[in-house]
Amino acid sequence: MENVTSENLRRQKISKRIAEIPKKYRRIYKKAVETNNKSAAIEAFCLECICWQKNEIINCSCLTCPLFGVRPYTKGQK
Ligand code: SF4
Repeated sequence: MENVTSENLRRQKISKRIAEIPKKYRRIYKKAVETNNKSAAIEAFCLECICWQKNEIINCSCLTCPLFGVRPYTKGQK
């Protein structure tokens, strides 16, 4: 019973969060939270971390972040 409640709460929070995300990034966020796709999760996490400024991910200066080496949008530019 508690898991059902937690899942409902999660869905409510996700719906609220989606409304706050720039429209062009909602699809990747939904893919991350609805399919548990790891690549989508990393992409969505980095986008959210960098305030949805996709082009700034390449300039991320947090060298100790566990996602630094796998952050998106850096192919051929590292
Ligand atoms: S790699 Fe950079 S942009 Fe991605 S989560 Fe870590 S600190 Fe944020």
